[in-house]
Amino acid sequence: MSSIPRPSPPLLFFVVDDTMATRILLASALLSVSALLCATAFSPVSSHVGRTVPLRLVSTSPADADTKSPTNEISQSYDSIVVGGGPAGLLSAIMIAQRDSKQKVAVFDRLPAPPSPTDEKVWQQTDRYYLIGLGHRGQRALDRFGVWDEVEAVSAPVVGRKDWQPGAKADEGVERLAADKPTTTQVLPRDKLVGVLYKHIMDNYADQVELHYEYQVTPTSFGDEADDSAATGVTLSVSKCSTVDETSTTPNPEAECEVDTYQTVTGNFLIGADGAARGIANAMEANDSERRSKQSALQRLFGGVKPFKVKRFEDDNKRVYKTVPVKVPSDWRFDLNYSARSKGNRITFEALPADDQGTYCALLLMKEDDELAQPNSDPKQLHQFFDEEFQQFGPLITDETLALVAEKPSSNLPAFRYAGPRINEGGATVLLGDAIHTVKPYFGLGANTALEDVSVLADSLEETSTLKDGVRAFSDKRAGEANALVTISRNMDRPGKLGTAAFIIPLILDGMFHKLAPRLFAPNMFAMFQKTGTSFRYMQARKRFDRIAQLSILGSIFYGMFSAAKSLVSVIAKKIGVVQLLF
Ligand SMILES: Cc1cc2nc3c(=O)[nH]c(=O)nc-3n(C[C@H](O)[C@H](O)[C@H](O)COP(=O)(O)OP(=O)(O)OC[C@H]3O[C@@H](n4cnc5c(N)ncnc54)[C@H](O)[C@@H]3O)c2cc1C
Repeated sequence: MSSIPRPSPPLLFFVVDDTMATRILLASALLSVSALLCATAFSPVSSHVGRTVPLRLVSTSPADADTKSPTNEISQSYDSIVVGGGPAGLLSAIMIAQRDSKQKVAVFDRLPAPPSPTDEKVWQQTDRYYLIGLGHRGQRALDRFGVWDEVEAVSAPVVGRKDWQPGAKADEGVERLAADKPTTTQVLPRDKLVGVLYKHIMDNYADQVELHYEYQVTPTSFGDEADDSAATGVTLSVSKCSTVDETSTTPNPEAECEVDTYQTVTGNFLIGADGAARGIANAMEANDSERRSKQSALQRLFGGVKPFKVKRFEDDNKRVYKTVPVKVPSDWRFDLNYSARSKGNRITFEALPADDQGTYCALLLMKEDDELAQPNSDPKQLHQFFDEEFQQFGPLITDETLALVAEKPSSNLPAFRYAGPRINEGGATVLLGDAIHTVKPYFGLGANTALEDVSVLADSLEETSTLKDGVRAFSDKRAGEANALVTISRNMDRPGKLGTAAFIIPLILDGMFHKLAPRLFAPNMFAMFQKTGTSFRYMQARKRFDRIAQLSILGSIFYGMFSAAKSLVSVIAKKIGVVQLLF
């Protein structure tokens, strides 16, 4: 009998267990998941320490030759300032510009401007960019602000997957199409998505939105911080950065920022969309802890302002990865997620399309201490590993590529973090995107939820009459979502055999009970991720209810069976003249 291996990170690159029922369950659920990374974009924030020295700041020119250049000048004040030019930051700028054509918005990012989304030479280097899959959440948000068509035009659809079980021969892959999925996942590099948003801003809102690249922002004041009832604006310091090693074959851009010179900029509204670097959140956390240290216990309890903290989970189920560019043969489908596991679950191979021409980006997902995860590992060993374990993919990768893969260092997946229970500071600052919820990319929810945050912020601003009320409404709506998303995702990534059981058993229970009583029991979590209009908090509560009901029913059944067996034995014992046996 086969054992149930741990489904190590079930991204689009989940690993399926060996029991058929669960495999089908998992596969159908996970088909809907949408993400693959081809490399990390992490870059730690340099600390900003320095004197106030006004500085002439020069912005970089955009990498996109098709669009107008962004402005070079940084003003002293703006209506709105967005820190972070990732998907969430740029969509936020578009949202604000659409809400009010008189608003002056500045976006700052510490890295260079993104490449043109249509520059094929750039995107052919698939292992320099990580891919993200956009499902219904991301697509709806982009559509709401009129950008989806442009994003879709440069994305590749994924309509299903083909899996090889450990030890399977090249022709033993099993193909499954996600026929009943309401939204087809569209895959593109994260930086290409950013390129589309950048171009959209330059084409439509260049007079309103200033894009400043290679500038790092650090908040120096959040305005009236005594409580969250005022909106008195924020003060920020902006430093010039330069990017190190732009020619690197891995997409780990590092920025070095000048630490002792900066320009002071003020804004009425600050959106912290600085991702996992979380510079704004760190400043809010320091601010909160300083404020609380000055308060009495009673003030802390009844002062009316919720605390602010970043919950940092220890990564106890760590996986690292290396990226592999792959060209699939012309007789393979170009719209599938190809996936294989090696024997003993040592390494998982996952590949998603980088375009619709068969250019794929694959990921080798492994434990940190695996010898093939090390930099400058032996290319012959890697070759041999592919020959033995991934025969279907080995012939698609040249020796030269394998040598480069063996040589490069592996990258870490992001760790689980969420911010809360409030995600605003005063009445003028909000956080969104990865800054409030960082998850491993297994379920393809990071970018999708970040884009959805922007849509919820737009709702909050629309539903209220003042900025401070909008900011507070957004915090109330979204902080719980960030918590629920990260908690759900982390619970599905617990280490060891218990972790495997905690992942598999709920899927089996949900599969059984939802089939028996679909009105009473919700489908499994993966299927719930795909439901439109379903919040993470609802999913969390629904699954708690389901679990209690399932265990109560199973408990009652077992108790009933036990009681019946006991009565039967008792009757038989009386009949054959034995007064009391065991019972
Ligand atoms: C390796 C990896 C793989 C991933 N794979 C997937 C996937 O497959 N599917 C999916 O949905 N999601 C995936 N994600 C997550 C997804 O990329 C993020 O959820 C998404 O990019 C979040 O968008 P964001 O705008 O909130 O943050 P980011 O995209 O992180 O953007 C933040 C921006 O802020 C800038 N910045 C940071 N600090 C400062 C500062 N102080 N001043 C100025 N600028 C600053 C950064 O340079 C960056 O450009 C992955 C993430 C990583 C790291």
